[in-house]
Amino acid sequence: MAASLRLRAAASGFWYWSGRRRAAGLTEVCSRSMASKTPVGFIGLGNMGNPMAKNLMKHGYPLIIYDVFPDACKEFQEAGEQVVSSPADVAEKADRIITMLPTSDNAVEAYSGANGILKKVKKGSLLIDSSTIDPSVSKELAKEVEKMGAVFMDAPVSGGVGAARSGNLTFMVGGVEDEFAAAQELLGCMGSSVLYCGAVGTGQAAKICNNMLLAISMIGTAEAMNLGIRLGLDPKLLAKILNMSSGRCWSSDTYNPVPGVMDGVPSANNYQGGFGTTLMAKDLGLAQDSATNTKSPILLGSLAHQIYRMMCAKGYSKKDFSSVFQYLREEETF
Ligand code: NAD
Repeated sequence: MAASLRLRAAASGFWYWSGRRRAAGLTEVCSRSMASKTPVGFIGLGNMGNPMAKNLMKHGYPLIIYDVFPDACKEFQEAGEQVVSSPADVAEKADRIITMLPTSDNAVEAYSGANGILKKVKKGSLLIDSSTIDPSVSKELAKEVEKMGAVFMDAPVSGGVGAARSGNLTFMVGGVEDEFAAAQELLGCMGSSVLYCGAVGTGQAAKICNNMLLAISMIGTAEAMNLGIRLGLDPKLLAKILNMSSGRCWSSDTYNPVPGVMDGVPSANNYQGGFGTTLMAKDLGLAQDSATNTKSPILLGSLAHQIYRMMCAKGYSKKDFSSVFQYLREEETF
């Protein structure tokens, strides 16, 4: 029951919270308000982690910061937050830690590396990984964390840098249900929706399925728009018709990939910003691995994976994933 038992020393006192106590209908001794403004660890201050950490600061949480790239910590240091030199040091100083890292390997390094979180994690700590990684890696990390008497939850996000800045991310959370409220307290500062998905790894599962569908619908939208344009249709008119018809989807009505159709989207800005083609290729790789592990047919998902991999090899890696339209424009078939 290590996972449902939490013992934490807070600066202003001591609080104890147990799922078992709640299940037994006992009054909680927990005083979340006493614990809530104790320092929160944040590891990975990149495109997403930076604005997410700033939203925690806005809610009054002091931060203990670490990133392998020291420049990423600079503005937090200037703002008076504490920067330390390893994930282990974060774990020594904070009993709630959020990680926001690019890949499964980075997450494993931050947790299990020579100076990883697990080296100094305190019993009862809550460790939330918001990176998009392989669900099987989340499960492995959860086992390691549990051995140390701490709690691990996967909480990947949907919504890009804009949603991270405005605090409107959606978090998909996997882990022990009794711990969900504790995670929600922090995640609610960074997102407008925090959804419990089930056991550890199910947050990642939801995220991977969503991104696979997004990639397929973006490629489909780009193909339809390109074909229509080559058939002589005005792109704005075609988009309007699609968006009034059964072909409508988020990629056509909110994030149209054709330059000139919409303002304020990456296609209006030479595909700068947004969600990178490399990250989409990575997420489709995770979908591919998960499909193999579960013997699930993902014919279109596999094809989407190959398309985004080819785009990365052909110079699109730093562009937004909607640049698949530009990629198709440059391809002519006979
Ligand atoms: P990023 O590359 O901009 O930032 C990652 C940060 O992690 C970098 O500052 C890097 O230096 C740091 N880092 C890498 N390995 C580290 C380690 N071992 N220890 C400490 N720091 C380390 O990536 P991002 O765009 O912020 O994405 C983070 C995660 O969020 C990814 O898994 C991505 O798939 C997911 N995501 C991104 C978006 C998006 O729009 N960018 C949207 C949803 C989800």
